[in-house]
Amino acid sequence: MVEDDPRRLIPRTDTLLSHPRVRRASNTLSRHVIEQLIHQAQERARHGELPPDRVEGEVLAQLDAYRPSSMRPVINATGVVVHTNLGRAPLSPAARSAVADAAGYVDVEMNLETGRRSRRGASARRALLAACPPAEDALVVNNGAAALALAAAALVGTGTIVISRGELVEIGAGFRLPELIESTGAQLLEVGTTNRTHRSDYAAALAQIPEGTPACVLKVHPSNYRISGFTSSATVAELAALSRQHQLPLVADIGSGLLAPEAALPDEPDLATTLSDGADLVIASGDKLLGGPQAGLLLGTSAVISQLSAHPLARAMRTDKLTLAGLEATLNGGETPVSTALSPDGEKLRQRTQRMADSLGAEVVPHDGRAGGGGGPGVPLPGSAVQLPEPAAALLRSGEPPVVTRTHGAWCLLDLRCVPESEDETVLQAVRTALEDLPPPTRGDG
Ligand SMILES: *Cc1c(COP(=O)(O)O)cnc(C)c1O
Repeated sequence: MVEDDPRRLIPRTDTLLSHPRVRRASNTLSRHVIEQLIHQAQERARHGELPPDRVEGEVLAQLDAYRPSSMRPVINATGVVVHTNLGRAPLSPAARSAVADAAGYVDVEMNLETGRRSRRGASARRALLAACPPAEDALVVNNGAAALALAAAALVGTGTIVISRGELVEIGAGFRLPELIESTGAQLLEVGTTNRTHRSDYAAALAQIPEGTPACVLKVHPSNYRISGFTSSATVAELAALSRQHQLPLVADIGSGLLAPEAALPDEPDLATTLSDGADLVIASGDKLLGGPQAGLLLGTSAVISQLSAHPLARAMRTDKLTLAGLEATLNGGETPVSTALSPDGEKLRQRTQRMADSLGAEVVPHDGRAGGGGGPGVPLPGSAVQLPEPAAALLRSGEPPVVTRTHGAWCLLDLRCVPESEDETVLQAVRTALEDLPPPTRGDG
């Protein structure tokens, strides 16, 4: 009986491992991945899901299809420029190639002329200072949250941070700024109310702080929401003057990292203006509206930046070489995809959208894009979208390449704002494939 058991015909692991194509795969895949794929195919054969003579072919097919990183490039057809779930800012061509170059050995901490050790991140720092002239000095850490924690730890320690009640914000799922700050040991001294905080509220709070207590004033841009109606807040310039009177630093967390004012987002703070208005330290993310890699940017006076750099936590938040390379190239390279998508050539975008709709026999409808990532909350970026039946959204997401669209009621809206023109043909083919897979009654009704 045992002799006839077809499971005896399942190829052994050793035999499969010695197959020339499997051996070649070991140049690009780790041993444990290869063995796992082999064991899975053998297991399926043992359960009768795969004939034993197909095991080898199955292993070879799985090896060909396997990607060492499961993160897949997707096309962002949502119209949301800085899409948190899609990795925020897409890098510029200059930044992409800098990241690839930095992947090997690089002179990140060596002066090649002298052969001596050099200051890590010096060139990214220079690029930041050149891009933002009002800053005396700059430091880069891993992300905006790290930058804020470092500022709190280095500037006040267990001292006091004065902050408006209207700025105690939750930034992302479960990430609350006040909790982050308090986790460093600093005490928050809340002033004002949710909708209104005046200069005099800060003045009263500052007067309460005992002489000699380390303290600072923190102004946070409540990036992902907007309070409208009966509101009031103190300006950076007012707070700077007040902080100076008390010889305390003013820290401004602006969130989005615009270098200078952006016409498409009139209410969005920027690094240069905030510093010119008197902030001693400005904090921003690198991968939001700046359009670079994930990073926490700290720009400000020489005194404040040296205080931060000298704190032990600065080492724990040290930026890696890929980020430093990508950030420098973002600042020195050409226009970023984020900037292009924020202020596109409107007429050209409309024509591309119309052309795609015509090719598909679909309608063009008005559609507002968004800055996203906490930038320009509530500010519409007027544009248009190709209107497709809602079930197309899931099919597009699961296609190759995946195309992520916006679902609105019964419709799947495809917005080309964040799609490079060179990808239009790819998107068109993806939509054709998705529409072919749709159940017929859904097509073209409405
Ligand atoms: C996004 C944001 C942060 C957090 O920055 P990350 O880079 O995501 O860590 C902090 N403060 C504000 C105001 C933000 O908008």
